[in-house]
Amino acid sequence: MRYCVVGAGFSGAIIARQLADIGQKVLLIDERQHLAGNCHTERDPETGIMVHTYGPHIFHTKHKEVWDYINQYAKIQPFINRVKAQTQGRIYTLPINLLTINQFFGTCLRPDEAKEFLKEKADKTITNPKSFEEQALSMVGKELYEAFFKGYTRKQWGMDPTELPSSILKRLPVRFDYDDNYYSDPYQGIPEEGYTPIIEKIVHHPNIEIRLNCSFESLNEEFDHVFYTGPIDRYFQFKFGRLEYRTLDFVKNVRDGDYQGNAVINYCEEKVPYTRVSEYKYFTPWEKDKFTKTIYFEEYSRLAKENDTQYYPIRLVNKMDKLQKYLELAKQEKGISFLGRLGTYRYLDMDAVIKESLEACRDLVVCLKDKKTIPVFFIDAV
Ligand code: FAD
Ligand code: UDP
Repeated sequence: MRYCVVGAGFSGAIIARQLADIGQKVLLIDERQHLAGNCHTERDPETGIMVHTYGPHIFHTKHKEVWDYINQYAKIQPFINRVKAQTQGRIYTLPINLLTINQFFGTCLRPDEAKEFLKEKADKTITNPKSFEEQALSMVGKELYEAFFKGYTRKQWGMDPTELPSSILKRLPVRFDYDDNYYSDPYQGIPEEGYTPIIEKIVHHPNIEIRLNCSFESLNEEFDHVFYTGPIDRYFQFKFGRLEYRTLDFVKNVRDGDYQGNAVINYCEEKVPYTRVSEYKYFTPWEKDKFTKTIYFEEYSRLAKENDTQYYPIRLVNKMDKLQKYLELAKQEKGISFLGRLGTYRYLDMDAVIKESLEACRDLVVCLKDKKTIPVFFIDAV
């Protein structure tokens, strides 16, 4: 049997390794010139600082299985993302916590008092929030919504928060203590040498042939089964039109010393054209002081055009028809499985991608053992 895995991000790498481990021959391709997909990291040649090429990636998970998995392949250094936000001429801490609330309103509230205070601010007429805006107004009220979420979200998604699903905001907690850890997961960190060496180790196996700079469309070979982690609409030559994505432009800056004193600062107001600035030596506190220079990137978000990198799938509730058509078409295919962020058009963090890929591997092993058909989707993609 011969298998092809399209895409060498976490999704493709984990599947390729599983197949190789059970004695199958695998061709792993990626049209980029490097492994690791959007998690790719490399040292900036001028400053020596580790840079995440497609935007800052912090590893965080609540799944011990995923944490153990990643720890097999790298030394994960402790890192807590403590995001700062600039709005209305001041700097605050995110996610919204007791310090944010007290500083923003000039109060000294304790947890219970702050809860009551925000309950008063919240829009009580919204009982079942559907849009991002409704979710925000019912959680934190108008002032905090307008200061921290409205402008940032309009820049990030290119539309009004009234048109976006509430699920986007549900990624962020509101805390009534002074915990300013951006994530709530018990396991967090950043791999000491970045993410690309992890993928290199995962796919380092005699049964895996790796071809970079190689698109699926350019291949002219037969396979028993293809595992496709590229964009699902592209696989079908955009038959029903393109699924929409946001892309990012990163503007690079290098200077001596420090720039902003923190890994990430969000700019929540619409008048600042970028959404956030990431200063990379702050992502590696264990080696930060050895660099005399600093490198930081302003992040600008816009709708992806044909040849842009696809970053965030725009899954609008009232625009799911096109995706539905692709999913239905895919289900009729034979000899192919769609996986990962692009293959299933979902906003997935690394840990979710790893978890799903490990689960898919388990199903796959059973299918091969029992000579059952390998499914087109290992999960419910809608
Ligand atoms: P990808 O990494 O996108 O890999 C797919 C690969 O397929 C690509 O390399 C592509 O070149 C290749 N490909 C596609 N089509 C073809 C084709 N036809 N032929 C050949 N090759 C093809 N997650 C976190 O957990 N923490 C974070 O802090 C975090 N930050 C993020 C920041 C940004 C700006 C973004 C956009 C995402 C972030 N993520 C983060 C999510 C993380 O990037 C994804 O979960 C992860 O990259 C998904 O892996 P994947 O293998 O599914 O897809
Ligand atoms: N968000 C916001 N203000 C902020 C940070 C986030 O309005 O300062 C909103 C924005 O819509 C964003 C969403 O919350 O898309 C989720 O934020 P997260 O930081 O998880 O976004 P990501 O890191 O995935 O870009």
